[in-house]
Amino acid sequence: MPSAFSFDLQKTDGTARTGVIHTARGDIRTPAFMPVGTAATVKAMLPESVAATGADILLGNTYHLMLRPTAERIDRLGGLHRFMNWSKPILTDSGGFQVMSLAGLRKLTEEGVTFKSHIDGSKHALTPERSMEIQKLLGSDIVMCFDECPALPADRDRIAESMRLSMRWAARSREAFGDRPGHALFGIQQGGLEQDFRAESAEALREIGFDGYAVGGLAVGEGQEAMFGCLDFAPGMLPEDKPRYLMGVGKPDDIVGAVKRGIDMMDCVLPSRSGRTGQVFTRHGVVNIKNARHADDPRPLDENCSCPACRSYSRAYLHHVFRSQEMISGMLLTWHNLQYYQDLMAGMRAAIAEGRFAAWEVEFHAGRAQGDIEPL
Ligand SMILES: [Zn+2]
Repeated sequence: MPSAFSFDLQKTDGTARTGVIHTARGDIRTPAFMPVGTAATVKAMLPESVAATGADILLGNTYHLMLRPTAERIDRLGGLHRFMNWSKPILTDSGGFQVMSLAGLRKLTEEGVTFKSHIDGSKHALTPERSMEIQKLLGSDIVMCFDECPALPADRDRIAESMRLSMRWAARSREAFGDRPGHALFGIQQGGLEQDFRAESAEALREIGFDGYAVGGLAVGEGQEAMFGCLDFAPGMLPEDKPRYLMGVGKPDDIVGAVKRGIDMMDCVLPSRSGRTGQVFTRHGVVNIKNARHADDPRPLDENCSCPACRSYSRAYLHHVFRSQEMISGMLLTWHNLQYYQDLMAGMRAAIAEGRFAAWEVEFHAGRAQGDIEPL
């Protein structure tokens, strides 16, 4: 039998936390950053390279995988871990967020959502029950409740209505998920930026009972200041002894601010997507490798980074292969960006464990103010 899912909260420093999530497929050190493997691959990376950056867990997208190659096919081929050659934990989203963003191509009812595929226009339905079934077929270690959320800003009535529907869907997700030892189900708090709705949502989720809790409905257009304002109260409403996951965040300073406010897990396409567009994250800020000023620069991107792009190549070479649209450009820059994110998480974990997160944060911001920052 697979061992049970559990969270070992080891140390808090202010509201920042560090610990370990134990799963049947291995431990996840928190705070954790999850690279996104949308279509059963972290683009431009071999799975062993992703693991080499220090990632303990990947995120897979239900919406993309259900359409192509389909969850049933992945199940027949032995599940998502085997299919994509990743043996560590996988978290899958519910498909809800991506379906909701198909404006004009979807229809929302109490039952669920019907939508047209962005690939071939074919009709599909997602309900809490179907989302649980798909995530089970994929073999996901951490399954997310099926929910929906409005883009912000939205009026209070719309936010309340949407949050209450998501809470009814959370109960249906819990029921459909059933009892699956070794697999976890996370509930998702909604309620926009409204403190009373966040509290109502947290209460509804606690009553149902989950293995972990996500703060959903943020990073949807509200801006960093508003997001941090919400994170000043939202995570504290969730059970302290369970992991807290902020979905779809974010830029390095978003991540630091979220960890500071008690978040344990995050995911974002930014490091991998930016790697393919020549935008590089470093301790001194963002470097845009396509700028001509790198053409003769023999220095590495970051002399303190252990990734292959920094160890073996100059900025001049990385500039050249980017400008020449060579595939190695996306490979090297993605590796570097994922390494940067994992090093960032490791730095925060060590600082929290040693009770010096505040000093670490000052250093983080000071490093970025030093220069090398280029406009996005
Ligand atoms: Zn590097």
